[in-house]
Amino acid sequence: MTDTIFAQIVRGEIPADLVYQDELVTAFRDVQPQAPTHILIVPNKPVPTVADVTDVDEPALGRMIRVAARLAEEEGIDEAGYRLILNCRAHAGQEVFHVHLHLLGGRPLGRMLADPE
Ligand code: AMP
Repeated sequence: MTDTIFAQIVRGEIPADLVYQDELVTAFRDVQPQAPTHILIVPNKPVPTVADVTDVDEPALGRMIRVAARLAEEEGIDEAGYRLILNCRAHAGQEVFHVHLHLLGGRPLGRMLADPE
């Protein structure tokens, strides 16, 4: 499996604006934020896409969602609402092949798809 920039962030080998880390997941701010709050939450174990998730990854995936909800509270965006996005492969525009959950909020986010058919 090829190493990714997110695996390097998890291991502390390259700098990132970390907001949370535990034994299962790491969260850091997106370098190109698309909303006032834009945080990425990743499993510490490198799993390329959601399609590669197996039984052993379920605790980390569940933790990612709980950490996203907690961070949304800390960011003060939980009451107004926020969006969680998991992009999988080409049609979703996945760029980094290490599963990551986008936490986006802090402004109205518009329709779910920019270009609905
Ligand atoms: P995706 O299109 O779902 O694969 O999203 C990848 C995201 O990773 C994009 O929003 C990028 O801005 C973000 N990104 C890429 N490199 C870094 C980095 N070194 N630190 C933080 N975010 C990054």
